[in-house]
Amino acid sequence: MAKDYYAILGVSRGASQDEIKKAYRKLAVQYHPDKNPGNKQAEEKFKEINEAYDVLKDEQKRAAYDRYGSDAFQGGGFGGQQGGFNGGFNFTSGFSGFSDIFEDIMGNFTGGRQARPQKQPGSDIRYDVSITLEEAFHGTKKNVSYTTFVRCSSCGGSGSEGNKKPTVCPTCRGMGSMRFNQGFVTIERTCATCGGVGSVLSDPCKKCSGSGRVKGTKNLEVTIPAGVATGNRIRIGGEGEAGFKGAESGDLYVFVNVLPHKIFVRRDNDLYCRAPISMIKAALGDEIEVPDLDGKKCTIKIPHGTQSGAQFRLKGNGMPVVNSSRRGDLIVEAVVETPVSLTKRQKELLEEFGKEEDEKTNSPQSFEFFKKLKSLFD
Ligand SMILES: [Zn+2]
Ligand SMILES: [Zn+2]
Repeated sequence: MAKDYYAILGVSRGASQDEIKKAYRKLAVQYHPDKNPGNKQAEEKFKEINEAYDVLKDEQKRAAYDRYGSDAFQGGGFGGQQGGFNGGFNFTSGFSGFSDIFEDIMGNFTGGRQARPQKQPGSDIRYDVSITLEEAFHGTKKNVSYTTFVRCSSCGGSGSEGNKKPTVCPTCRGMGSMRFNQGFVTIERTCATCGGVGSVLSDPCKKCSGSGRVKGTKNLEVTIPAGVATGNRIRIGGEGEAGFKGAESGDLYVFVNVLPHKIFVRRDNDLYCRAPISMIKAALGDEIEVPDLDGKKCTIKIPHGTQSGAQFRLKGNGMPVVNSSRRGDLIVEAVVETPVSLTKRQKELLEEFGKEEDEKTNSPQSFEFFKKLKSLFD
């Protein structure tokens, strides 16, 4: 329902601001509710002239109206808002216009409303990368390739073909959002015309349709520092999605996943492994060699009488600590292996050993266990 604001105020299209003001004042006095108590028609007329004046007194709004008509201001502007407040307040004298009062009242309910054109920065991007434990140990470089919005090369991100300055959005009048009233509930939505930016372009770039960005592929080499662990993320500033109309780009976050290793398990900065040790070596004592991830051979002295579960800690042979020269430890846990596939001779020797064995002295754990077990049933 388009309204002719010029006709409402009784002025010509080319009327000056002075003429508009004079016409408005005359009509405002004539239809003021104080002078027309209970007259619904006068009240409607009064609202109408205030609406017309609110637009025509403002050069920017007037220009938008000349171009788009009153629908630009009515769709969800105060045209839609009136319903909820009809008869809900008393007009007071000395105000500048209906919409101003309306904004004041709205302000009381919603904490004020100011033009706040939004910058729409690009979103951050998550990129998952899997690396081996060796790569995590030494640090590595990974090529990452992903499709995202990149700055439009044609307009340099401005979105304007001829690099012209954007003008105030006629739909939301630069607010970036529209309000809708349902009773006393106000719903605010991002303006569909300008996408919340609050401004529009007269000459949108043909390549990016004015958005300042286009779909494109990015290829980057990402440095992954030594010592990274699963769940660590590396932030690469500005390599995310390009912002809307030249707004700031998002960031790229590379999420690291360290793949399981054949031998080593990582616990914080320590490396842990289980080493099976023959029963004979465990009983008599020996030395074993375990390489760390650096390829360095570490010698571990196994004392005689070593039991399964005994742990040997090699200080400083674990994972590097990110951004530090420190390293965690390497922890080797002994698992005593019982001999299998015995020859006849080996069997004889073990049987002979068995005859010599004094359980209380040679296998104290086993001896104590069965003693306790026995006492349970006695
Ligand atoms: Zn462009
Ligand atoms: Zn808008």
